[in-house]
Amino acid sequence: INYRQARFVHSAPTLALCLEDTGAEVAFAGRSNAGKSSAINTLTQQRALARTSRTPGRTQLINFFALNEDVTLRLVDLPGYGYAKVPEKVKLEWQRHLSDYLQRRSSLKGLVLLMDVRHPLTEFDQMMLSWADKADMPVHILLTKADKLKRGPAAASLQKVRHALREWEDLVSVQLFSALKKDGVETLSATLDRWLAS
Ligand code: GDP
Repeated sequence: INYRQARFVHSAPTLALCLEDTGAEVAFAGRSNAGKSSAINTLTQQRALARTSRTPGRTQLINFFALNEDVTLRLVDLPGYGYAKVPEKVKLEWQRHLSDYLQRRSSLKGLVLLMDVRHPLTEFDQMMLSWADKADMPVHILLTKADKLKRGPAAASLQKVRHALREWEDLVSVQLFSALKKDGVETLSATLDRWLAS
């Protein structure tokens, strides 16, 4: 799949207003500031496809990007999560939408979960992983901003996350990623190719 062809097609505030549930899609999720927009822009080689949002607390949208002409192959940018300033009620609404989406969306083939390599497996990450597990949804973890650590500590973080998730190794894979250095893009696209082809 040529991810450079990605183009924005649709924004939805809720699962009910998503595109038709046919074809195949892969979703990206992560705490706000984990590097999700940067990863999507790096994968698609487009500087501003996914906007890097600096407005926590605003209504967050699910964004759909088509990878082919008839929109049967898609990337989905899920709302960033975890700003402390967001009211509890809004947080709970996001949680409900995210878990709904993971459980019910039949075109969803896999979840890319982004975590800052320096502090992976936050409470939010654990929550996403447990929903994915419940939905039998494959998860590919990007340990982002890998350039912020030296090689040794980055490898140690990768090992630590792999070890923590060893019980789910059938459903969960993990890699280092740097949008800044463009490291790990090929491993990511190979995983997406596999999911979107199945
Ligand atoms: P999002 O909120 O998850 O979409 O995160 P962004 O993509 O907006 O990134 C959050 C911040 O981390 C921004 O200041 C980015 O420039 C920075 N960032 C993202 N990816 C990388 C990376 O690979 N390396 C470094 N050093 N910084 C990054």
